[in-house]
Amino acid sequence: MSALVLTLTSWAGEPTLPPGSGVAAGVSGATPLGEPAFRFEGFLGERIVANVDQWLVSAPVANPGMIEMFRLRDREPAPNLVPWAGEFVGKYLISAIGALGLTDRPELAETVRRVVAELVVTQAEDGYLGPFPKADRLKGNWDLWGHYHVLMALLDWHELTGDSAALAACRYAADLACSTFLDGTLRVYDAGSHEMNMAIVHGLGRLYRLTQDPRYLELMRQIEQDWERAGDYLRAGLDGREFFQSPRPRWESLHDLQGLVELWKITGEATYLEAFQHHWRSIRRWDRRNTGGFSSGEQATGNPYAPTAIETCCTVAWMALSVDMLRLSGDARVADDLELATANAALGAQHPSGRWWTYNTPMDGTREASAHAIVFQARAGTPELNCCSVNGPRALGMLTQWALLAVTNGVVVNTYFPGEFSGYLADGSPVTVRIRGEYPVAGLVNLEIERGAPRDFSVRLRMPQWSERTKVSLNGEVLAQAPAGGYLELTRRWQQGDVVQLELDLGLRYEVGDREAAGKVSLYRGPLLLAYDQRLNEFDEAAVPPLDLTKLAQAQVVETGLGGPGRGRMGPKPWLTLDLPTAGGPLRLCDFASAGATGTRYRSWLAATNCPPAPVVTRLPADGAVIPAGQALFQWSTVAPPRSSDQRSFLMIVDPLDPTGPTVTRSKLTGNKVALTAKEMSVLSPGRWYEWRVIGRNAHGLTDAPWPAARFRIDPRLPGVSAAQVTAFMSPPREVMVKARLWGKADPEVGTLLAVTGAKSAPGPEGDADEALELDGVAGRIVYQTGEFPEGDYGVALWVQVTELPAGRLGQVVSAWASSMDDPLRLCLEQGRLHARIEAGQGYSTEGVPVTVGQWYHVAAFKVGTRLSLYVNGELRGSATAPLTICTAAQDIALGGNPHYSGNEFLAARVSGFMFYGRALSAAEIKQLATP
Ligand SMILES: [Zn+2]
Repeated sequence: MSALVLTLTSWAGEPTLPPGSGVAAGVSGATPLGEPAFRFEGFLGERIVANVDQWLVSAPVANPGMIEMFRLRDREPAPNLVPWAGEFVGKYLISAIGALGLTDRPELAETVRRVVAELVVTQAEDGYLGPFPKADRLKGNWDLWGHYHVLMALLDWHELTGDSAALAACRYAADLACSTFLDGTLRVYDAGSHEMNMAIVHGLGRLYRLTQDPRYLELMRQIEQDWERAGDYLRAGLDGREFFQSPRPRWESLHDLQGLVELWKITGEATYLEAFQHHWRSIRRWDRRNTGGFSSGEQATGNPYAPTAIETCCTVAWMALSVDMLRLSGDARVADDLELATANAALGAQHPSGRWWTYNTPMDGTREASAHAIVFQARAGTPELNCCSVNGPRALGMLTQWALLAVTNGVVVNTYFPGEFSGYLADGSPVTVRIRGEYPVAGLVNLEIERGAPRDFSVRLRMPQWSERTKVSLNGEVLAQAPAGGYLELTRRWQQGDVVQLELDLGLRYEVGDREAAGKVSLYRGPLLLAYDQRLNEFDEAAVPPLDLTKLAQAQVVETGLGGPGRGRMGPKPWLTLDLPTAGGPLRLCDFASAGATGTRYRSWLAATNCPPAPVVTRLPADGAVIPAGQALFQWSTVAPPRSSDQRSFLMIVDPLDPTGPTVTRSKLTGNKVALTAKEMSVLSPGRWYEWRVIGRNAHGLTDAPWPAARFRIDPRLPGVSAAQVTAFMSPPREVMVKARLWGKADPEVGTLLAVTGAKSAPGPEGDADEALELDGVAGRIVYQTGEFPEGDYGVALWVQVTELPAGRLGQVVSAWASSMDDPLRLCLEQGRLHARIEAGQGYSTEGVPVTVGQWYHVAAFKVGTRLSLYVNGELRGSATAPLTICTAAQDIALGGNPHYSGNEFLAARVSGFMFYGRALSAAEIKQLATP
């Protein structure tokens, strides 16, 4: 045997990601191949051809306004553009330049060359490269965000071709940003739209590393400083805040997070890397969808099960972040995620014809072209342009950034989609990898490796986590069975004709759903998510029979041609179809990317019997926390009822660097928290990172916690946990979280007052003096601390007398708003009507009830299960559907205004008898409250 076989879990030699270790400071562990020529075949290859021929070559011709808007910026009439219009050409180019590594089509190379050249010619005399009028340049809109994409595109083009004009234009535009925001009093912060405009930090970082011009770093430092007033990415990444609870959890922030990687590459300071990795882990645990996509209504919400929109731009940003994470960490499981996102979320967002991309690719629903779903972004000359149509193709272009990578002494193969893949290693020598087979439809894969130079060379093969048994052989000789979730490294002098053969395990597997997907599962075969599609079945989605999880082995891959009913009609052929027996007859499923391709309805969450428990996510200690020695408190997410009565959990703490070292386990847990004793914790050493997870078990099996586990360290210098803290921690949640009579003063009987402004004593509902507080509608606001907001059922009740209607704006009776699209409960007045509302990734609102100025009302708003209800004077007056479980960053609740929003949402009103409950109230209880 001439092969040296090593099993690794990362090319850094580290199974997990301790900050700053495992990779040399500031140097990424792996790089893309030089001059990549990746020629995918099969289904993915056809999708790439369709993307090139049907979109990338034609988009600039069919949408010439992409560049014309830059020429028209100072013409009359003034442009009427969406604030992000300047991104379209940059996003298009990033997608198209990536695709140049995937195709031989000369038309694409020529199109890209022309678009770059024309873009550069539109640059203004001061370096400006956007579509907005002179007076506004860079100072507003999402103009810096547009420039960020243009900078990245020009850098990509310069990197690929050496085009010095592109680099000069890139620098000239960056110089304008520097002079605008460094030489006067104006800061990038002042341009507003912070998570968008501050993302230019990523482009500036790349440009700084290329040119070493200190001005670019100076502007990066300014943005870094002002992050503390916006997304706070560095501090939030170090103090354990989950990304969805950070100040700006919208998707654009992911590109700011890429700026953390730049700051690390420039400085080598481990804190940047640590913060970046924390955010990646947090999104992966809390917000990554079953399709591999990301976002709930354009942002992170901490709930991957909600039937909210999954925007294509958000999935692309998540994939870009994951490319960084893979290259930094060398963790093969990140490549699992990239493959999952490519095969499902990304190909699902692309129509098989290649002619359009979605805005939203829901887990259950239909596929709609972005050109009509978000047609408000279209203008004369840009009928098909929107944020997603130009960005979606980047998901395919990114394949050259991760599918194969170069490391010091070899090549990393991260996916087995068939094709021929060539490029150059870091030492300048060429390498070609040929992958034969029908992956992912078939598990048998042959690899031929060709290396220009005749010397020892290593090939690292990703062993997917989902392939429980992978057989590997070299030239017919079976090698040791490789563990899942890492890389198998083969080092030898490769000869022409050498063949590595893999047999991947494509047995069906499932992930159990929770919350809105409770009682359902997502089914997978290899990297493919499976879905019901109307097109392939005679029955509709409401009649899909439940799956029996004990019978998955009976699934049969079937060859359907163009589908079941109506065989032979037009329509794209699925990648994979299979039949699964159920108690209600056979169910035909197809790959998620093909589901809904003809406008039919589809579902990827499928009802199932014999389900193990839903996965739970760890909460406290927060990821990255430092805890005292001794007794320790652990808490994890609650899961949706109904839970089977036999359900138990066990908690496990392990040292990821020493899997054979001491572990702590506690079994038979029934709640969502536990206090471990000092004796139990004593086997752990101070200063080391420990990972912990909670595994659920019922009669049907085990469910592990979502990867990657959160981690903590012990610092014995910290004051220990007191007995009183343990008692408070372990006691059930309070049912009354705030109780404040508001009789002339705001001090509560239960709860903590945080602030009171613009309030004075007033007569109450009975007319008696000092039985209410009057808020002035200008600055009047009372804020109470809520602590951790309830996740399930909760509500508020109070007496209110509006003294003046807010004109042309909202006024808040009660609001717990924490950040954009995160308000777990508000009672607000709009156009003279009172509504109960929730913002959780999207808005939920009851109908409005008219309110008369000067009249006292008893009002209550309760979220119970999936219902949000509004009561006025004890009567139910409105309701709406609401998310079953709320994940919110809210820590306080205000009366008379919004507790955090900087705009004016004050309400002139008198308030009395405020209650905030962490439980549901019956109709009778609410009626009772409304009785004076
Ligand atoms: Zn978009």
